[in-house]
Amino acid sequence: MKYKVNEKGYYGDFGGAYIPEMLYPNVEELRQNYLKIIDDADFQKEFHQLLKDYVGRPSPLYLANRLSERYGANIFLKREDLNHTGAHKINNTIGQILLAEKLGKKRIIAETGAGQHGVATATVCALRNLECVIYMGEVDIERQAPNVARMKMLGAKVVPASSGSKTLKDATNEAMRDWINNPVDTHYIIGSVVGPHPYPDMVAIFQSIISEETKKQLIEQTGNDQPDYVLACVGGGSNAMGMFYHFMDDENVKLIAVEAAGKGVSSGFSAQTEDGQVVEPHSVSAGLDYPGIGPQHAHLFKTGRGKYVSITDEESLDAGLLLTQLEGIIPAIESAHALAYLEKMEFKGGENVVVCLSGRGDKDLDTYIKYFNL
Ligand SMILES: *Cc1c(COP(=O)(O)O)cnc(C)c1O
Repeated sequence: MKYKVNEKGYYGDFGGAYIPEMLYPNVEELRQNYLKIIDDADFQKEFHQLLKDYVGRPSPLYLANRLSERYGANIFLKREDLNHTGAHKINNTIGQILLAEKLGKKRIIAETGAGQHGVATATVCALRNLECVIYMGEVDIERQAPNVARMKMLGAKVVPASSGSKTLKDATNEAMRDWINNPVDTHYIIGSVVGPHPYPDMVAIFQSIISEETKKQLIEQTGNDQPDYVLACVGGGSNAMGMFYHFMDDENVKLIAVEAAGKGVSSGFSAQTEDGQVVEPHSVSAGLDYPGIGPQHAHLFKTGRGKYVSITDEESLDAGLLLTQLEGIIPAIESAHALAYLEKMEFKGGENVVVCLSGRGDKDLDTYIKYFNL
């Protein structure tokens, strides 16, 4: 339990709920009810039924033979890319939409940067017939036109955020403002293990299906539910937290979280200035260019339980092409960051390594094509 949240919402020194006074009732309603609702047998039944029949779970754990040969270790890929809508994000939005229904909410809001979380949210709102409003920066609306089209087709209203840098943080401000003004009928679906308590814990619980399945699949395939290494990429940290969740107390399993360094950690575009001011980070992958990270990750880093490393744009794109040509799987560039770290590891031979393939690369084809002149 030492890596799990305490009653106050903290992971060691990190976490809590730093929110405007006017949001307190909304967050408090959620805090008082989320565990009760999630632990209820009917909720669990409905959640797992949808994961199975709608999302397509369990996602396979695939022993990638040619990749294994290259690195001299058994490389297993947890195939979140095969989920409905193409990534792990749907695990969380399914969980939260069911929870919103139990709380009697009729209206869903969310913010999105690259549009992936917006699409996953609009999808479950269509599924459950709930009103859906997605806040998105004006700049992002232009950059991510196909995802905007998807959200609209799914019946969501996409509201442009036109203040500040017109990107994710401004969309988040707008969503907060909406929630303050609509506290009774609205649930705010946050897309990663970030935000005030209980969001980081709640999202981690919904994503923990990833490691729950992986353990069972490892037993079947290797006879041992503890691999030597588990790797995942980190934006806000939700696929990594889902991938780490049931391994956290297995201290022999090394947890490796791979962050996006963009043009390099000292390029001046990696989230913080020398004196700790937040700056807009750059990454080739739209799902990782987010300056924050969840509190549980901060705790895993500080306690040394997790190792936090970084991969540049070039390294990730090369790893994406390598997986495509060795295994016939085009990964999301986010996921390719985790794969790229395999190049930097040294194996004795025969280690079992699980990499979370958080999403598929269809959305990234333009970037791959431009970079490799295909
Ligand atoms: C959004 C996204 C991520 C990053 O989000 P996390 O919360 O860190 O998981 C990673 N991979 C894919 C495919 C994504 O869509």
